[in-house]
Amino acid sequence: MTDHRTPYSVYIHIPFCVHRCAYCDFNTYAGMQSLMPAYVVAICREIEIVAHSAPQLLTAHTIFFGGGTPSLLSARQFESILKVIQDCFTLTEEVEISLEANPGTVSMEYLRNLQSLGFNRISLGVQSIHTEELRLLGRIHDTYDVIEAVNWARQVGFTNLNLDLIFGLPEQTLERWQATVEFILGLKPDHLSLYALTVEQGTAFGRWAKQGLLPIPDPDIGADMYEQAGETLEKEGYKQYEISNWAKAGRECQHNLQYWRGLPYLGFGAGAHGFANKMRIANIIRIRSYLERLSVKNSNRDFPFPVSPATVSKTKISKWVEMQETMMTGLRLTREGVSAEEFLKRFEVDIREVFGKEIDELYTMGLLVWDGQVVHLTKRGRLLGNQAFMRFVD
Ligand code: SF4
Repeated sequence: MTDHRTPYSVYIHIPFCVHRCAYCDFNTYAGMQSLMPAYVVAICREIEIVAHSAPQLLTAHTIFFGGGTPSLLSARQFESILKVIQDCFTLTEEVEISLEANPGTVSMEYLRNLQSLGFNRISLGVQSIHTEELRLLGRIHDTYDVIEAVNWARQVGFTNLNLDLIFGLPEQTLERWQATVEFILGLKPDHLSLYALTVEQGTAFGRWAKQGLLPIPDPDIGADMYEQAGETLEKEGYKQYEISNWAKAGRECQHNLQYWRGLPYLGFGAGAHGFANKMRIANIIRIRSYLERLSVKNSNRDFPFPVSPATVSKTKISKWVEMQETMMTGLRLTREGVSAEEFLKRFEVDIREVFGKEIDELYTMGLLVWDGQVVHLTKRGRLLGNQAFMRFVD
């Protein structure tokens, strides 16, 4: 399944932000934009090194620029990265090229330029439509920026638009959350990602929570928010296909599906991760260290695929771990789930022989559906996903 004939996904991490949001624990840095030109050069070099070390020319069917705030790069900088990717991979005809964008950082001209470079999917981090919630989160945009960004994207021809929202915010009520969902539906996105707020250590939210200054809604209200929004979206013709994702028919994110299906991907940039050749690899996190590793003097030797000069950890994945991961990520796919036939094809062993006990237990608890061919989460299981996933790890 993960041989070199399988189309790859390519992830490019852009770790720059204008300002650090209060809840963010992604690998991203504010105030370092002066390093962007050198970073683009390093990314291009890393792509070339890895692609040239592959046993054959690889095919890519998705390219995803995530961050951070990738929309801080200029169209010209994207052009140079895309050119290297085109030179180093065979791209499928229907290749999905996505950009994560901050609504406060785009213009119509910019989106038009991206579209002409081949981008065909934009994902906007909206999070909320309420000004005080956006301020608390530390976001730099307002709802007006969102409306403009959506209109511009449509005007220049984007037909695949995702909007990200966060629920379970401090002092958020069910009504306020529902108002965000309904307003956003009025913008007619093709895809919606709804994430529950998680308060992480090391963030401003983490510090405020420790001091008792963050009135997070009760988890039961969070569950109601999730369920109510899901029902509203289904009524509007969106189908849930992953725990946090809904899409109009044919608008599912192909790039993220690659992760959940356990298929190979290559990650480039500071802190990026990859999975290829039965190996999980991770890059050095800090931008300056990444640049140093990709300097000509440090990168001028051979690296075994998929390792790059920026790799700091590589783990060979055993068949047993790969089977566990297949269950954990596959079960996130709420309708597709894990197919018994695919499992047998991939691992040459019956799914019930390996996980029969776990499937039976979770079925009895009402968290899994098992019809003899496919195993997937029930509605209740989607709320208690972690409990289900934990059963499949040692
Ligand atoms: S814009 Fe996104 S990546 Fe940047 S700090 Fe805010 S949440 Fe983090």
